Amino acid sequence: MNKDYWFYLESYVYVSFDDHNVLLINSLDKNNIKSSQPEIYKLMKSLFDPENCGVIKISKDINKECWNFIEYLRDNFMCDIIEICSPLNKPVQIIPYNNIISNARQIENSITSSKEGNNYLSYLTELTLMINTQCQHSCLYCDKYYLQFNCCTKYKEQNIELGVNDLYTLFNQIKQAPIGRVNIVGGDISLYSNMNELLSLLQPYKDEAKFYFHYLSIDKEVFNFFEKGIIVIVDFPIKKNQFEKVYDFFNDICTYSFILKSDDDYKVAVSYIQRYNISKYELKPFYTGHNISFFEQNVYMHQQDIIDSIEMREIQKNEILNKNYFGRLFVLPDGAVKSNMSSNVLGYLQNSTIVELLYTEIYSLDSNWFGIRNKQPCCDCLYQYLCPPMSNYETQLKKNNLCHIHTIK
Ligand code: SF4
Ligand code: SF4
Repeated sequence: MNKDYWFYLESYVYVSFDDHNVLLINSLDKNNIKSSQPEIYKLMKSLFDPENCGVIKISKDINKECWNFIEYLRDNFMCDIIEICSPLNKPVQIIPYNNIISNARQIENSITSSKEGNNYLSYLTELTLMINTQCQHSCLYCDKYYLQFNCCTKYKEQNIELGVNDLYTLFNQIKQAPIGRVNIVGGDISLYSNMNELLSLLQPYKDEAKFYFHYLSIDKEVFNFFEKGIIVIVDFPIKKNQFEKVYDFFNDICTYSFILKSDDDYKVAVSYIQRYNISKYELKPFYTGHNISFFEQNVYMHQQDIIDSIEMREIQKNEILNKNYFGRLFVLPDGAVKSNMSSNVLGYLQNSTIVELLYTEIYSLDSNWFGIRNKQPCCDCLYQYLCPPMSNYETQLKKNNLCHIHTIK
């Protein structure tokens, strides 16, 4: 007589389905297996039937392909089978997926549904303050850099400055928030009229504050103000004399942020990093509108990149929120507040509280914070939640899938 077994997956195995395929990945060793066999697909689907709670009964006379598949999984520590002694001893399996939690805002709603609830502040972890738009330079991509990563811009021709009253209003309201980073960008922030007031308000955030300077805007006087947290933006072609001047001021105490639009830029950046022995730097790919092949080669993901980078907790986060955006607010010089530089204004510091603006972001239908991969082609893709969340690059390239897997243009 054939014995019966309970079959279940190990909790560190992630399973993804599309219309015809099932993909299983061991999040510990990244071993993965994909099948399009209808019987295997059916078997795996039944594991996720709410009635089965992740454990199903099988016997050895199950379809041979299914049995072989189970044996392969077992040999690779991805599943287990337990002989059934009594039908009452069904093991309990905690399904490690957040499919049940389809919308974090529903949970939030059950905790507090009022705009006044202080809970919202607890989500605010990063602020970016654009304090002015004044700058004497004329970089070709000034109106584009800041939409892809933190960078200076004079996106408005006339100078606008974040007012002192707005600064006080803002800092008074965020005292309870677990702010882990405050980015200060301009324009040229050394020209900001209210710098003394800003630095005094930033006292409690001394370790969290980051000041962004374009390397062309740096001269010696600036550094009397700022001792640390300086990020120097460097774009191409680099003016060598000015770079050396900046390097003479800072040596290696700042972080250099190189903006790359081509392989040639990358090579030059590496040569500077090596020549000046720079230890703190970041490389920021930049989409000009005309360098798609640079992005295809250097930014687009391959299947192996996705699988190599997965972690169970990250996948679970990807199912409910966008960790690139979650927790972040941007304040513009006129007091406008956004959750992303390229999205709509949530409201203004002058007539809304930060809690109200957080409430608006959390509950808006097109919230950036909860912008998961639920659009074509990602919503039908096996890697939907394995892929890192959407970023500013997808927005600027106007393409949801920056990958070599689904090649929809
Ligand atoms: S230095 Fe910054 S703000 Fe000034 S033009 Fe260049 S990108 Fe724009
Ligand atoms: S289609 Fe979307 S989810 Fe699928 S691999 Fe590409 S970017 Fe990731």
